[in-house]
Amino acid sequence: MTTLNPFKIAQEQLDAAAQRLGLDSATHELLRWPQKELIVTIPIQMDDGKVRVFHGYRVQYNYARGPAKGGLRWHPEETIDTVRALAAWMTWKTAVVDIPLGGGKGGVTCNPKEMSETEKQRLARGYIRAVASMLSVTKDVPAPDVYTTPQIMAWMMDEYETLVGEHHPGVITGKPIPLGGSEGRGDATARGGIYVTREAAKVLGIDLREKTMAIQGFGNAGQHAALLGHELLGLKLVAVSDSRGGIYNPKGMDVKQAVDYKLRTGRLEGFPGAESISNEELLQLDVTVLFPSALENTITSSNAGKIRCKISCELANGPTTPEADDILYQNGVFVLPDFLANAGGVTVSYFEQVQNTYNFYWPLDEVHRRLDEKMTRAFHGVYQLYLKEKVTMRQAAYLVSVARVAEACKLRGWV
Ligand code: GLU
Repeated sequence: MTTLNPFKIAQEQLDAAAQRLGLDSATHELLRWPQKELIVTIPIQMDDGKVRVFHGYRVQYNYARGPAKGGLRWHPEETIDTVRALAAWMTWKTAVVDIPLGGGKGGVTCNPKEMSETEKQRLARGYIRAVASMLSVTKDVPAPDVYTTPQIMAWMMDEYETLVGEHHPGVITGKPIPLGGSEGRGDATARGGIYVTREAAKVLGIDLREKTMAIQGFGNAGQHAALLGHELLGLKLVAVSDSRGGIYNPKGMDVKQAVDYKLRTGRLEGFPGAESISNEELLQLDVTVLFPSALENTITSSNAGKIRCKISCELANGPTTPEADDILYQNGVFVLPDFLANAGGVTVSYFEQVQNTYNFYWPLDEVHRRLDEKMTRAFHGVYQLYLKEKVTMRQAAYLVSVARVAEACKLRGWV
């Protein structure tokens, strides 16, 4: 893990867009900072009877276009600055797919891998009690992110509804389906990434059938990218890694077996018929599509020059640093930037909220159709600007999003 500060990176990316758009200094300054943030301590009784104090965060980066929206990450290295960066990226994410929401993010510094189910439930409920004043269907709506699950969302929704004494399923998304979750939310992040990869391949003139993919990070997004990359695009999985290391077979691996193995054993090493490979080696493979699907700062100035994929579809948030972006651009790697590529998750979260509001639920094919429409339209909007402005795809996406958020701030009379 590097010491690069993701919030500084997010500000730097915004600065470049603000300059190119000729934003006035007040609007630029407003967009450089979160509108509201809350830092809390959460005392939790652990199973051994001792109390542990956890540190939690909720950041509402910008809510000019609608209620703040964004996930909750439970990670040992969570800090206020990672949450701020992720909240900023949520703001650009909801804007690029043009859904009427702002951007927010939350987190708790903890290691869920070392916690029991009862400890996780107490932490979920404790977190909601601590930040409840920030939340509501019309103010700020959390969702899952790294190491948080539909079950955790269910406990959180229950705690919130207990506090307010009413049903408000739309206060949190990514819930289990019996509690008001949406069909299709489970694989939505990866599915959105697969739709934009399909569109990218069309404009680049690449036939993806039987071509290769490598996946770095094998959580929710990575696993579904493997399954859907194969099912919808005909891609062959040649390498996959998790935080402990990876596996490689140049002839291709059975994606269902790889996912089952990971779910059953919690790891990839030892998967039959594959040799081991490091995360670093995986990133440098000569594949058609690379899916960085883990954490931020994976592709940096020290390895970007060695990346050989044709398309990098960023399912993780913040996997590429600005210096690395320039190198990839010069080397002709087509980057589908994170807040476009992984916007499928929040898009179906938005659909979930709409369904909760109407208390009327859509079938899976309707969710898929609407998601495809949103992602395809967002891709082509960004791609047109990429061609016109001759900038990176990330810069083009920033131009689209920042202009939309700036316009909303101006129309409200804030700046
Ligand atoms: N955590 C996901 C993201 O980074 C989803 C957020 C949401 O559904 O609100 O986009």
